[in-house]
Amino acid sequence: MPEFEVVQNQEPVEEQEIKEIKVHYSHDIQNFMYATGFRLPSAVKTGAPGYINYIGCSEENPRQWSFLDGNRIKRVQESIATDNELSPWSTTIRIRSNVGRVVRKLHLCAYGKELPADEIAKLVRVWDKHTGNTDMYQFEMLKGEEIRDAYYHDNYVSERGNLGSSCMRYVSCQGYFDVYVRNPDKIKLAVLKEEGKVAARCLVWDGKYYDRIYAIDNLTEDTLREKCKKQGLVNCYAGEAGDIEITIKHFDFEHWPYLDSFCYLVNDESGTLCNFEPSGSYYYLQSTDGEAYFSNVKCSNCGRRIRNSDDAYMIGDEPYCGDCVRYDTVSGEYILEDEAVFIERTGQYTSEDNVTQIYTGEYELTDNVVELHDGEYAFKNDSDLVELHDGEYAISGRDDISEITLGEHRGEWALDEDLEEISGMCLKGEIDHD
Ligand SMILES: [Zn+2]
Repeated sequence: MPEFEVVQNQEPVEEQEIKEIKVHYSHDIQNFMYATGFRLPSAVKTGAPGYINYIGCSEENPRQWSFLDGNRIKRVQESIATDNELSPWSTTIRIRSNVGRVVRKLHLCAYGKELPADEIAKLVRVWDKHTGNTDMYQFEMLKGEEIRDAYYHDNYVSERGNLGSSCMRYVSCQGYFDVYVRNPDKIKLAVLKEEGKVAARCLVWDGKYYDRIYAIDNLTEDTLREKCKKQGLVNCYAGEAGDIEITIKHFDFEHWPYLDSFCYLVNDESGTLCNFEPSGSYYYLQSTDGEAYFSNVKCSNCGRRIRNSDDAYMIGDEPYCGDCVRYDTVSGEYILEDEAVFIERTGQYTSEDNVTQIYTGEYELTDNVVELHDGEYAFKNDSDLVELHDGEYAISGRDDISEITLGEHRGEWALDEDLEEISGMCLKGEIDHD
């Protein structure tokens, strides 16, 4: 049977002609490509499976495009020069489908292969944004256990944007959200959902403030922001709202989520959360592993509170913050940044007591330098360092030195000022001091 088929195929029976033909796009879609930089195929193969052309937008549904398939294009062509001439753009004969499906078909009959699903999804989102179409998102205000669910990444539309990379998305974080779940009068979660899945979310505090927005893309982020503003909410993340205190009833939790704005819990049993650093002692609530850091330690240099008592660097009996100290690689201890010197060649810090400034202006450990003939210093392994005939050191290229070509120091180096040229010869000789 295979042989029979091969023979059949060699017969020139009804060979379908495949040729490349320009794709016709409506003005709307041409504008879309121009505005967004997205490039759709410029040519397709007629006769290819799924051949379509005359791509336009649906007038009824902004999330759909319209097109003609091979049969309908044939009908249009056959109608030309008849009384019933059809326009390929006439809505009566056009086929409508979702933007993603049309793009997929188009790509297939242009290149003979599928456009990856994520590329299609990206194009659809850009299209939606281009047309301002956000109807597919439902705005909801969640509270209680719904908040816990909305943080879990399985309940996201997709793991993209800063929502998809949120540090609180893991199953291991599910136990951190009690503070949100158990204070429904003060803490809610505004979300945008697409078919029941979260596309964007932000905390809402005290019914007045919306917090940092986590979203799969800019469109959903902008949409949620607009929805929050329409509800009269004010952004508390960018600092527009100033210093705010929120008092919650339940705050005795072992685990805490990472809080973007209200990350200070005042340590006075009042349940006060602040978006600014309070003057007294507090718990700091910006940990990705469910911890609340307690600290009442201030840096002895800059005066800032050290977030976690364990993070303090002790110099003598004084605590300092990480910004104010440097690790001294010589002594193996921490020293104040003001007293630390950076050795550029090795990338190390050490106390200014251990270093010498060399002729280049950089610092080296004093143990690693030699004194030059002029009282300056150089790194002992400097490739330009030259030992002179009298045991002193110079830097070739910087100091005027020459090789001695006559006398007992022949082959050694000397400063030019210590040499005398023998006239007529391009040789130099050592001064005879005797
Ligand atoms: Zn400090």
